[in-house]
Parts: sequence; structure tokens; C-alpha cells
Amino acid sequence: MLGLAAIIFTVLFFITAGYGRHSNGGWGPKINPRWGWFIMECPTVIAFGILFIVGDWKGVMRIAFSLIWLIHYAHRVFIYPFLIRSNQKMPFSIILMGFIFNLVNTYLQGRWLFTLSTESQYAPNWFLDPRFIIGLILFLFGFFLNKQSDFLLRNLRKPGETDYKVPRGGAYRWVSCPNYLGEIIEWIGWAMATWSLAGLVFAVWTIANLVPRAWAHHKWYHEHFEDYPKNRRAIIPFLL
Ligand code: NDP
Repeated sequence: MLGLAAIIFTVLFFITAGYGRHSNGGWGPKINPRWGWFIMECPTVIAFGILFIVGDWKGVMRIAFSLIWLIHYAHRVFIYPFLIRSNQKMPFSIILMGFIFNLVNTYLQGRWLFTLSTESQYAPNWFLDPRFIIGLILFLFGFFLNKQSDFLLRNLRKPGETDYKVPRGGAYRWVSCPNYLGEIIEWIGWAMATWSLAGLVFAVWTIANLVPRAWAHHKWYHEHFEDYPKNRRAIIPFLL
């Protein structure tokens, strides 16, 4: 998975996944984006639930990790898709790739948490371990940044509108894609809090997927808006 992430990272600088503003005709049949997001993300709740039930979920830490996971994914599966204000249909090929990634990744995280990790690794005193505390703070900060930034984007359009505007406020003062930055921080936090190879794999994949896409969005903004803020970076304030 880590090797594949390096390849995906490189490829995505040359080929941008064809959904949203980067939609074009080359990705096959398309469906309503709300159902697209729902279908693509649903393994994260369903497969996680199955692994929870068939695995060893007992222990306060495993339940805590399950709640952290669900804070993010219950929103992403059941709320986010039905809030978006977009009529850009989603190609089934993208949905399928996202679905497969979510299935494999949820398997990795769930198998680690509920089968492969040992009782002593996640004893209740892991709550007080600096790795867990810092990881949880990062996760919650990233979650807030992601949700706030998606909220600001959503409200650029009145119901029924489909055009693009220059986002302002929040962390858009510094970067073009703070929603992606928030997502990356969340999963780095998860990797720290779980202190696991599975968590690291997810954080690396999120970076490999979202940094090239943020770069493509940033370039797109500059091509479409002459007055686009010059000091704004793509995804890392003051740097990238
Ligand atoms: P985008 O930022 O491309 O778009 C989010 C929504 O806002 C879309 O509905 C889009 O409409 C709309 N929008 C974007 N920019 C503007 C603008 N300038 N003016 C008006 N409306 C705008 O995000 P994604 O769709 O790629 O991702 C959605 C969420 O999913 C994010 O929170 C992201 O972090 C997460 N995600 C996570 C991944 C991971 O690897 N973990 C992978 C991909 C996404 P339209 O569809 O018309 O462009």
C-alpha cells in the first residue's frame, strides 16, 4: 500500500481525477453526485461495523477509536453527500476506485484495531499516552478545519447555483484547499493516536491523493480568476 501510494502520488500530478471542476468526458458513465459520494464512502461504515462485530471490540480504547472513526465517517456517509450544492455528475469509474480504496483501507484499520493489535498495546492507560493525546488533538483540529472549509465552500453557492467563486474567510486566507489540509491533518492525527502501520498507511494515502489534487485546484483558480489572491498557497500555508 505504501509503495502504491508513491506511484499514485506521482501519477495524480499528471492525471487529475475527473470529478467536480475537473470533470471531462473521459471517465465513463456518470451518476448524481450525492449518491456517488454515498456509495463511494459507505464501506467505511458498513465494513467497519462488520469488523467491529466479528473482531474483538472489547476494551475502552478500541471503543474510543471506533467513536473517533465514526465521528468522521458517519458525517461523510450520511450527512455530507446530502448537503453538497453541485450538479456535476460523478463518473462511476471514480466511484468504483474510491469504493475499492475505502473497502481496503477500512479493512486495514478495522483488522488492526479489532484483530491484530494486542490487549496490552491499547490498555486503558493509552488514553494518557502523549501519542494518543497529541494524535487526538490533531484529529479534532483537522476535523474542524475540514468541516469549516467545506461549509464555507458550500455557502459560496445559493441553492440552485452551480458556478465557481473565489472562496474567502477561514483558512482560505492562506491556502486554496483547507478542506484537504484538514483531512490530511485528521489522518496524521489518527496515525499518531493509533501508533500503527495501518494508520500510517492511511495518512500517506491521504497525502498522496489530496496534495496533487490541491495543486490542480490551485492552478485552476489562477487560470479562471484574474484577481485570485497572489499570496495564497495550494495546501500548506506560506510553503506549497
Ligand atoms: P472540493 O473542494 O473540490 O469540492 C467540495 C464541494 O464544494 C463540491 O460540491 C464543489 O462543487 C464545491 N466547490 C468547490 N470549490 C468551489 C468554489 N470555488 N465555488 C463554489 N463551489 C465550490 O472537494 P472534493 O469534492 O474533492 O472533496 C469533498 C470532501 O471529501 C472534502 O472534505 C475532502 O477533504 C474529502 N475527500 C477526502 C479524500 C481522502 O483521500 N480522504 C479524497 C477526496 C475527498 P463541484 O462538485 O461543482 O466542483
